[in-house]
This record gives sequence, structure tokens and C-alpha cells, in this order.
Amino acid sequence: MLPIPVVGVPLIGALEPLEFTAGTLMGVRYLLANNGLWREIRTPWLHATVHDLPSPPKKPLPFGALPPIFSLQLPREAIQTAIASFVRLARQDSACESRQDFRLSSPDTLEPGRFEGSSSQATVTHAYDDWKRGEWLLDIHSHGHDRAFFSSTDNQDDNHDIKLAVVVGLVQQVAPEIVARLCLGQGRYLDVDASRWWTS
Ligand SMILES: [Zn+2]
Repeated sequence: MLPIPVVGVPLIGALEPLEFTAGTLMGVRYLLANNGLWREIRTPWLHATVHDLPSPPKKPLPFGALPPIFSLQLPREAIQTAIASFVRLARQDSACESRQDFRLSSPDTLEPGRFEGSSSQATVTHAYDDWKRGEWLLDIHSHGHDRAFFSSTDNQDDNHDIKLAVVVGLVQQVAPEIVARLCLGQGRYLDVDASRWWTS
């Protein structure tokens, strides 16, 4: 795990922009602001600050204010196409849980990783260590005949990742169930409305 720098938000003047860590497409740093500790994340598709540790009430810290940042640029058509192609494979797969990762290869294009079936819901593998940090955008897995939800195994798997996680349930139905969340690391998630992502 790479060390994460800590930067104080200046009382006067601008904060230096967050750069990608060398050899990656991701930058992460902690920011000490007057209202506590924030984590700033930047990838080609996400720029956000996450309030990891608020300061004690009525005791502002001796740092500057940090305006919240949240900019998410998802290639929605590419995600819909990825989900549709994944569901076609998952319907042919007898495994109770199959999965596939996708990376962002251009601002509106997703490149699929290998489709993997699994006979055990306790097994989670991501075989794409050669992808640069920040490229991995989409993690889709199937719950087979079960409903779509984020299980405790999914929480363990997603805990430290920066990605969009999608679960597909009831895959044999004409319109499968789909749930999604944005994973922001350190167990922080944002629910994402995936109700219009099924386009078959
Ligand atoms: Zn799951």
C-alpha cells in the first residue's frame, strides 16, 4: 500500500492541485481543513473529497476551509453495454457467482477483463494487477438466481477499492435486478441508482 500524504489546507491562498501518483492514474491525499480530516481522491473519472474525520463541534482546527468536491464522470452508455454483455455470459454460467472487471480505456470506452465463474460465493478474485491504479472503473458480479444486494463478502471485497461496484441478481429474468454503489475506500460507499442501466 502506498503512503498517503497529509496536507494542511492553507488559511490564505490556494491549495496545490492533487496530482496522480507516478506510474498510476490515481491520486489520494489527506487534507486537514478547519472542520476535520478529508480524503481527496482523483482518477480520470472521479474527483471527490470524503469527510473521514470531523473535528470536535465548535472547535475549528487552525487550517483553511475546504469546499466539498464531487465530480463523477461515468461513461453511462459503455456501462449499460458492459452490464448487458456480462448478463449474457452470466446466464450461460452455472456458477452461483461470476464476475468481470472493466477498465476505462478512453473517456467513453470500457475494456473488459476476463469473465470468471466461481462455484463459491466466498471466493473473490481480481486478476488484473497489471492495470494501472485508477483505470479500474467497473466491477460487476452476479448472484445467479439470488437477488441483487451487497453481501458481507462484497463489503469485504469493496472496502478498500475506488471503483463502481455492480451486483446483478435474478439473472435469468427478462429484466434482472441490478444494484450499484460507488466505492470510495475505507468502507465508504455512495448508493447509485442503477434502475435504468438494463437496456437489453
Ligand atoms: Zn455479491
